[in-house]
Amino acid sequence: MTLTAVTKTQTDPVIRDALDVGQRVFGENRVQEAQAHWATLRAEVPDLELRLIGPLQTNKVADAVALFDVIETVDRPKLAEALAVETGKHGRALRVLVQVNTGEEPQKAGVLPSDADALIEKARALGLKVEGLMCIPPVDEAPGLHFALLRKIARRNGLSVLSMGMSDDFDVAIRFGATHVRLGSALFGERKPA
Ligand SMILES: *Cc1c(COP(=O)(O)O)cnc(C)c1O
Repeated sequence: MTLTAVTKTQTDPVIRDALDVGQRVFGENRVQEAQAHWATLRAEVPDLELRLIGPLQTNKVADAVALFDVIETVDRPKLAEALAVETGKHGRALRVLVQVNTGEEPQKAGVLPSDADALIEKARALGLKVEGLMCIPPVDEAPGLHFALLRKIARRNGLSVLSMGMSDDFDVAIRFGATHVRLGSALFGERKPA
């Protein structure tokens, strides 16, 4: 079980405190804010792992690939293609997760469950290193069935990583097999309004 500490909206001293107690895996949901937080620390902390957990626009792909070790939010063929082209330039296979919109919410990012297998196959064919799946269940529903669905899609595609569970539901996510929980407020207190 990996704890991904979500440092969006946090200050540099808070981030330093987390590093001081040995935390090494961090999640950010915006490329620019992540650059501000991590561009210099990256060099100081060689064993850092940075994970992008927010939506990625194709015009930010170069910046994202330069900064992040793992992109958790691959959710459409065009983005997979752009990531493959960019990582091709660096000659490395990018580690990614496919984000699934398990609640099929129109406003939410993520591939629909029925399109997930095809996107996973496409991303693999493009040379991306697909490690697993990520989801954010609807706020107004019990999360268990969403976590179960994510696990089912992962299993039938031979994927081992499940990034699911946030401060309010990580206990449920762990019971459903989460390998990565993404915690912000449970670690750092309530977020300041953005
Ligand atoms: C902010 C955020 C989290 C952390 O949320 P908390 O409820 O503060 O734990 C996890 N995942 C994603 C995608 C986020 O944007």
